[in-house]
Amino acid sequence: MVVVQCWDDGVVTDVRLVDVLRRHGAKATFNLNAGLHDRHRKFGWIYAGIEVSRLGWSEMNEVYQGFTIANHSLTHPRLEQMERAAARREIAEGRDSLQQFFGQAVSGFAYPFGSYNEDIMQLVRESGHVYARTTASVSHPYPPDHAMLFHPCCHFLAPDLWSRYEMAKQSGVFYFWGHSYEMITDLMWSTFEEIIERISADPGSCWGGVADLFDQEMRTLDVPTKLHAGGV
Ligand SMILES: [Zn+2]
Repeated sequence: MVVVQCWDDGVVTDVRLVDVLRRHGAKATFNLNAGLHDRHRKFGWIYAGIEVSRLGWSEMNEVYQGFTIANHSLTHPRLEQMERAAARREIAEGRDSLQQFFGQAVSGFAYPFGSYNEDIMQLVRESGHVYARTTASVSHPYPPDHAMLFHPCCHFLAPDLWSRYEMAKQSGVFYFWGHSYEMITDLMWSTFEEIIERISADPGSCWGGVADLFDQEMRTLDVPTKLHAGGV
């Protein structure tokens, strides 16, 4: 089974996260908002009583060296509530800025707040992305019905992560996601490291890149004209 993971928002705790990942040879994708970083670290918000800051541009090349960068829009708005032209700018300029800064092709997208509609899906695809991640959880993520609606298996703190991991073996892909700032105690960090270590040690699994799951055939899957009623 291929195991893929991605992390959102480009926060300072990603420094600790990439240490863990590098120790165990794990690949990962980082979904970033190019319009929200300054040269140096910048306070973002409070989570569980703890200050969360965004990384500075001055350190991001080093922090994310060897990992994959994906687009999380320019400034993390609720895209489906914006004018179409403004939403297109958020999506396209976010991607362009990241490609320029990191010097790597940016082909993945993660919907800010996990929210989207058909128009947004279309814009994301038109802007050159090969897949777009939601925040829904599904048992069998792959192949997704539509590349612009790629649902992960679970959030990394899901209590049933391991049963989902076993279940995902039927589809050949296990995909989890999260934010490193959600780990607020050393215990949470060590529990997370155990997850990474156990996956790395599983002879039946290997780490992969999310975008690598999308070959030519997958990339041309149509955006649905109507989302299913009651869908995610
Ligand atoms: Zn986000």
